[in-house]
Amino acid sequence: GGAVVFDDVYFAYDAERQILNGVSFDIKPGQTLAVVGPSGAGKSTIARLLYRFYDITGGRITIDGQDLRDVTQSSLRSAIGIVPQDTVLFNDTIGYNIGYGREGANQTEIEEAARGASIHGFIESLPDQYAAKVGERGLKLSGGEKQRVAIARTLLKNPPLLILDEATSALDSRTESEIQATLERISERRTTIIIAHRLSTVVNADQIIVLEAGRVAEKGTHLQLLRKN
Ligand code: ADP
Ligand code: ADP
Repeated sequence: GGAVVFDDVYFAYDAERQILNGVSFDIKPGQTLAVVGPSGAGKSTIARLLYRFYDITGGRITIDGQDLRDVTQSSLRSAIGIVPQDTVLFNDTIGYNIGYGREGANQTEIEEAARGASIHGFIESLPDQYAAKVGERGLKLSGGEKQRVAIARTLLKNPPLLILDEATSALDSRTESEIQATLERISERRTTIIIAHRLSTVVNADQIIVLEAGRVAEKGTHLQLLRKN
């Protein structure tokens, strides 16, 4: 699973302004697509449309050949994992935060997900390890650590499609490259990944689309785009 097609998609939040103006792309299962472009170009909107927060006004979106309009909310929720821009954690154990929404998950599964998201080293370095509570005894997580907890949460769900909404844009370059490496490993599981990103540092994506004012201005691999510009 995880094949996503946007076919000439139009969208507007209100009558004032068109946000997406005929966006098309095609992601094969297990591929990584990076949607890059300036702030306000419509990158997050693409993520929200996939989750059916809003309905499109023209064109078609399909997941695994099925029109998004015909997919139930509950199957969408299990097909898609979203790592939001700002991950807010509960003041509870890191294990609880990873297992949130997956009440049946056991400790082994939680640790496996943490390993998959490359956050286990950090957790195991804490005095209380998985029992450590966020906010207690000064346990504060950096933006990158929070994001990896959010990635671990989605790994428990193991969705065929993972969406990162500008998840790495506010991070230092070391954290960013750690998250890149994490994503590459997730990609090896044949998870389709869509990254909405302000910067074009997403070198390892199979496809990059450059969104400008709701249109696909350019499309290609990193190398193809470098040659053009
Ligand atoms: P990006 O992720 O590329 O920064 P967005 O998809 O968040 O861009 O937003 C695209 C445009 O849609 C922006 O101009 C933004 O102000 C507008 N927008 C975003 N969300 C809403 C909303 N809920 N209602 C109206 N306009 C919105
Ligand atoms: P689940 O049903 O798998 O628990 P949720 O609907 O609770 O999924 O969403 C998981 C997280 O992703 C929440 O933090 C939610 O705010 C965020 N989220 C959901 N949809 C979007 C979206 N379209 N864009 C950005 N963040 C989203």
